[in-house]
Amino acid sequence: MRFRTRAIHVGQEPDPENGAIVPPIHVASTFVQPDASMTAAYDYARTGSPTRHAFEQALAALDGGSRALAFASGMAATHCVTQLLAPGDHIVTGTDIYGGTWRLFNRVLTGHGIAVTAVDTTDPQAVRRALRPATKLVWIESPGNPLLSITDIAACAGIARAAGALLACDATLATPVLTRPLELGADIVMHSATKYLGGHSDLLGGALVTADPELGRRLHWLQNATGGVMGPWESFLCSRGLKTLELRVLAQSATALRIAEWLRAHPLVRRVYYPGLADHPGHALATRQMNGVHGAMVSFEIGAATTGVAGGGDDVARARRVVEATRLFRLAVSLGAVESLIELPAVMSHGSYDPEARRACGIADGLVRLSLGLEAFEDLRDDLAAALESAIDRAG
Ligand code: PLP
Repeated sequence: MRFRTRAIHVGQEPDPENGAIVPPIHVASTFVQPDASMTAAYDYARTGSPTRHAFEQALAALDGGSRALAFASGMAATHCVTQLLAPGDHIVTGTDIYGGTWRLFNRVLTGHGIAVTAVDTTDPQAVRRALRPATKLVWIESPGNPLLSITDIAACAGIARAAGALLACDATLATPVLTRPLELGADIVMHSATKYLGGHSDLLGGALVTADPELGRRLHWLQNATGGVMGPWESFLCSRGLKTLELRVLAQSATALRIAEWLRAHPLVRRVYYPGLADHPGHALATRQMNGVHGAMVSFEIGAATTGVAGGGDDVARARRVVEATRLFRLAVSLGAVESLIELPAVMSHGSYDPEARRACGIADGLVRLSLGLEAFEDLRDDLAAALESAIDRAG
């Protein structure tokens, strides 16, 4: 079956009892056993439940994995991966990663005796140089968040494997529509299902997908032992979200490319970050690694340094005025849903970074991040145009 067909049919067989074309939502927390020592397919919903399993089967099929595990949030999924490590172990990670992941690694795990080194993973040699004998995990994110940097997954997989470390890839921004890291040699794919998989800003969820059945078993053991599982309602919504995932991601990405091109030509915009632009440093790699489509996130910096048009206040103040002036683009963290969002990473999605570390990673205080939704391009463009015009004090 092709990707789009799998997204609709895997795990979604009609109910054998009554023919309902959509499988029911099983809310049971416990399942009756045939006898005291035997369990049937399910025993307790933390270990597994039919509605969660349906979503897990479909996602595994889309990511080319042997097993998927659904979690209560993306962070619960990420945390589960880190529980494969022990005190004394070392993680190599990227600098352009989600702020919550940065916080988990640098503020939580370091307190439990795990060392973390952040490098620019767009340079595989930097990853290689950061390895230590104790390195057990290389954690990458591609595209990165919020700078949309592109990391060579296959190169990092080879480097991690040679060092005896696992490669985990946060593919939230790519989704399995655009990148399937397991096919490129990654050991674990992580998704915040809150984003494109759900797709409608109405659930929190996360997922891990693995190709190696033994690694899948270990992660499932940890998931069951620690308990951060996805509930039945969210699982149903995620299964539903997968059915339109490809259509949404392709349509949203097409709008993102047009918005990025339009922003780049705008006199009040200093710099645009979008891997679909030919001058993005990761453009060629992204084109290969993302099936020729470059995702639906765009970041940009305000300030018409080249034209001298903008004046008055610094770039950060201007950026703040822009994000507060849009009407269709809602000012909110998160991404990947049908409605477009705008935010200031330095104080919102990446506010949990240490400010110095954030600047060192190249995330400017005035960076604006867009998540393109399914609205008409023209309406989104007009909304941004009006916000840029109104927010910038031309007189200054
Ligand atoms: N990874 C990325 C790229 C994200 O953007 C997010 C959330 O914004 C997460 C992980 C964490 O996921 P969640 O918010 O579902 O815990």
